[in-house]
Amino acid sequence: MTYTINATHNPNLRSWVELANQPNTDFPIQNLPFGVFRRQDSLETPRIGVAIGDKILDLARCYQLSLLSELPEQVQIACTAPNLNLLMGMEITPRLALRHRLSQLLQADTQPHPPAEILISMSNAELLLPASIGDYTDFYASIFHASNVGKLFRPDNPLLPNYKYVPIAYHGRASSIVPSDTAIKRPSGQIKPPADSVPKFAPSQMLDYELEVGFFVGLGNQPGEPIHIDQAEAHIFGLCLVNDWSARDIQAWEYQPLGPFLAKSFATTISPWVVTLEALTPFRCPAFSRPEGDPQPLTYLSSPSDRSLGGINITLEVWISSAQMQQQGIQPWLLSRGSFQQMYWTLAQMLTHHASNGCNLRPGDLLASGTVSGAEVGSQGCLLEITQRGSQPITLPTGEIRKFLADGDEVILRGYCESAGYNRIGFGECRGRILNC
Ligand code: CA
Repeated sequence: MTYTINATHNPNLRSWVELANQPNTDFPIQNLPFGVFRRQDSLETPRIGVAIGDKILDLARCYQLSLLSELPEQVQIACTAPNLNLLMGMEITPRLALRHRLSQLLQADTQPHPPAEILISMSNAELLLPASIGDYTDFYASIFHASNVGKLFRPDNPLLPNYKYVPIAYHGRASSIVPSDTAIKRPSGQIKPPADSVPKFAPSQMLDYELEVGFFVGLGNQPGEPIHIDQAEAHIFGLCLVNDWSARDIQAWEYQPLGPFLAKSFATTISPWVVTLEALTPFRCPAFSRPEGDPQPLTYLSSPSDRSLGGINITLEVWISSAQMQQQGIQPWLLSRGSFQQMYWTLAQMLTHHASNGCNLRPGDLLASGTVSGAEVGSQGCLLEITQRGSQPITLPTGEIRKFLADGDEVILRGYCESAGYNRIGFGECRGRILNC
């Protein structure tokens, strides 16, 4: 495998940052996810940080204090950049050297004890997009989501014949990717209710979220040079949570024959912390086991090591909080809980397929998995599936009814990994609230 267990995953490691040692934290010393921040209400240049408990380790400050001076110069320079692109584009060896150094700096017994000024409180920081995202591609890798949605739109023909051969995707819009906590404006567009003969232009009445996992390209490839599946993970830097906001009424009218366009391109929210593949090593698992009778992937998408460890065991949750719930102090309400293990295609298969025609991927490109839905009731990753396109509304704790999202609703995605013998790590939250019109 590209990534292996090492001393940074040791469950006995403790940090001098107190809250990083709590069993339920998303950010123990074994995680060390990267993000980009600036002090709240400041206009200072964004800086790279690493989440640790309730604090952010400021890498530019570490560099200024010569705390990174043993690392290769290219790593030191990358740590002082205003985004993660340079770090993402590095080979695995210098990336691993940085992870080991960060782990060492934050360990409880490290000597000499680093100065407190290398930390800032998360509550005093604004978290920004982690990378300059050149291109964004959204896959469709859950066969359960594809089948459920297919049934709603094409009852006679839910799963198209290419699905089990091709990791289906469309090119998304990079310009409207926003960090967690950005308010989302309800889009308007062409909508054609079934009973009408012509469309109208109006605000979407079927606004939805999609729970997805995103992965950032690390090392790029040259145009015309595909990536072998056994090399694919060396080209992936890390993962985040993605909410692919979707206007179902606009989508239903526009999607044929070329796929989603304005139903999706108005906004995509991502969580601010990028959890590296190194950090996820203890949570790897076999790829989805194809049922008897399904075709095997074509050779270029097939690899024994990807089959045995190409999956990642991430528990994914969606919570909702309506404006009324917020006013009444009612806690967010769980909409779904599922696992990333149930995806039909692995990250390596998606990336390999993307580059298989010679398409060049660049550091900081974002690829997303598509809606993560499982086979079980309660594991569907969007309202379209949960409410069966609005025909089975859900009731919130306030008695409010939802077919799709209402103004003022906040959607919160959470993700975390657990494995016997290792510390739990998490992704933090991906939040977005629909603005009141
Ligand atoms: Ca999607």
